[in-house]
Amino acid sequence: MTDWQQLESRYFFSTVKRQPVTLVRGEGVRAWDDQGKEYLDFLAGIACLSLGHCHPVVISALAEQANALIQVSHLVYSVPQVRLAQLLVENSCLDRVFFCNSGAEAIEGAIKLARKWGRENKDGAYEVICAENAFHGRTLATLTAGGTDKYKLPFVPLPPGFVHVPFDDVEAVRKATGAKTCAVLVEPIQGEGGVNVPADDYLRRLRAWCDEVGILLILDEIQTGVGRTGSLFAYQQYGVEPDIMTLAKGLAGGVPIGALLAKEHCAVFVPGDHGSTFGGNPLCTHVGYSVLKYIIDKDIPSQVAKKGQHLERRLRSLADRHPLVTEVRGRGLLWAIELDGELAERAMGMCREEGLIVNNVKPTALRLMPPLVVSEEELDRAVEIIDKVLAKLEEEKRG
Ligand SMILES: *Cc1c(COP(=O)(O)O)cnc(C)c1O
Repeated sequence: MTDWQQLESRYFFSTVKRQPVTLVRGEGVRAWDDQGKEYLDFLAGIACLSLGHCHPVVISALAEQANALIQVSHLVYSVPQVRLAQLLVENSCLDRVFFCNSGAEAIEGAIKLARKWGRENKDGAYEVICAENAFHGRTLATLTAGGTDKYKLPFVPLPPGFVHVPFDDVEAVRKATGAKTCAVLVEPIQGEGGVNVPADDYLRRLRAWCDEVGILLILDEIQTGVGRTGSLFAYQQYGVEPDIMTLAKGLAGGVPIGALLAKEHCAVFVPGDHGSTFGGNPLCTHVGYSVLKYIIDKDIPSQVAKKGQHLERRLRSLADRHPLVTEVRGRGLLWAIELDGELAERAMGMCREEGLIVNNVKPTALRLMPPLVVSEEELDRAVEIIDKVLAKLEEEKRG
């Protein structure tokens, strides 16, 4: 343990098992720790660093706005907020935007909006159908919407109004739908749940069901949005449009922001219904605008699609050569490598030793989510490191 890690254990709540590395500097896909060791960062601040560490667009947007205006509150108008909202609406199927500071807050807003819509349009319906293994955040309502009991049990009683069905199972959603149901909430691809990719027609069939019974489809694109899966938003690849969508993570390239978007027909908030002191502040929304504009202007999502195909080929070849790999799954630049046994933590540590930061999204799976600007050479280098680590683990296993 380095000094910083010792100090952390003295002063911090222990809420997470951190990797024993203290990063102090980053540039693009590379980061350095306090010992000067260099890494390829395929964790990217949990998919937040869409343009990599310290991208010039992020730095200059931060500097520019820090010199002009940082915080005004939502009680007055602010230019960067309007520009980012306009850019989001013009490039998505949604009509209205509310800004907050994190993913969980965006989901909280989505749940409130769906409940208010249900109250006004569905005879007081308030129940949201969610998926097992889903992740929507750590506030009381969002962790209840999530599908991991371990995160919930210490905090009962939980808010009512959430029911869970297996992911990628439209029949189960149909069966769970009742008079109290106002919405279905899912991730297009489950991120924290292990990079679970549903059948190609899942969202289309969900959309059809929601239309048939007149309930809202909420897509949590906090991890899949802003280019991550090879289109600006994942829903675009599935031929559906959500009524409500949430964004956060990669939207401002690493600066904290969340966004709740909705179609006009369900944008039912009126003054007093919702708010956030820091939400939509000029600093974060100006960075968000600059990052999103860059991603759109440079057509980064289609580059992600191409790089994703390259990564997929390399990962499938890994899976072919290594008996330890039971499956690789993902889309764009969001992938998981499923291992034969609970080896992910050990594999993650060995990757780090070799200069690659990834995370053990499950005890049995590693997740790769590099910055969207990663090069094919960097993808190759990461796969070579994983290749070497798998070979070592297999050698150990053979004894
Ligand atoms: C990370 C994440 C969240 C929560 O975002 P926070 O910013 O940590 O509150 C919600 N939904 C999904 C899909 C996520 O990946």
